[in-house]
Amino acid sequence: MAPELREDPLTGRQVVFAPARARRPGAGVARVEAATPDELETCPFCAGREDRTPPETLALPHRDPPDTPGWGVRVVPNLYPAFERQEVVVHSPRHVRSFGELDSGELALVAEAWRLRSAAARDAGSYPHVLVNEGRQAGASLAHSHSQVVWMREPPPAVALERQERVADLLACDDLVVLARGGIVATAHVAGRTPYESVVAPRVPSRDGTSLAAALELLAELVRRLYAVEGAVPWNAWLHDGPHWHIELVPRLTVLAGVELGAGVYVNPLPPETAAAALRDATG
Ligand SMILES: [Zn+2]
Ligand SMILES: [Zn+2]
Repeated sequence: MAPELREDPLTGRQVVFAPARARRPGAGVARVEAATPDELETCPFCAGREDRTPPETLALPHRDPPDTPGWGVRVVPNLYPAFERQEVVVHSPRHVRSFGELDSGELALVAEAWRLRSAAARDAGSYPHVLVNEGRQAGASLAHSHSQVVWMREPPPAVALERQERVADLLACDDLVVLARGGIVATAHVAGRTPYESVVAPRVPSRDGTSLAAALELLAELVRRLYAVEGAVPWNAWLHDGPHWHIELVPRLTVLAGVELGAGVYVNPLPPETAAAALRDATG
């Protein structure tokens, strides 16, 4: 197949799909590795070690007194914020190493924490940038599954410049859809920057908490399927807020080089149709 240039309908970003260099799905080997004894002993996010983080901003379910065990999801300030405010959402009292290992109850609490802390950021006049980094090469400093809510002065360029009215176009390519459930669609991105880049979004945008929880369920299933196909690869995901909110999942399977950084054009060796087929066939 000859290299093919495609454009992201939301941003106009250009991606060259160049499958010449052999890269076939199914090369996966490893699932999420077990934690080392040292990691388990020193993890500040595990239940019972509430004194090793700054005092909590939020814990669900609510309990009294704060900063004690009994929580399902716990939000604490980031010790090293790069922005005016940055919060860490700890996804489970268990030492879970992948978002894909969270159960439905835990995902519902994560969604509720994202919703509440995003509302708090908006009330303060900030834009909440909610993100997950999984794996060291994706920027995660601690293995215990967590996300962050970064309070930004205004919507960042990645959000302000995208045409969210085109999200529906991303969801409409039937041969790219991986999963669809409860009004939420998980689809391979037609112009993904990296292999398996995906989008999770409601067909019809709505602000209710249940659709965010349903979206996180699909994100967790996508991660499990990605791991089944490629092994435990590092990835980033983030929620882009706005009229048609959506979650973007970017597995870190390629290295950004001179073309990507210098020209702003991404080279992706895996066509999205192939990625979608592999994720559809995988068992999550
Ligand atoms: Zn832990
Ligand atoms: Zn977006």
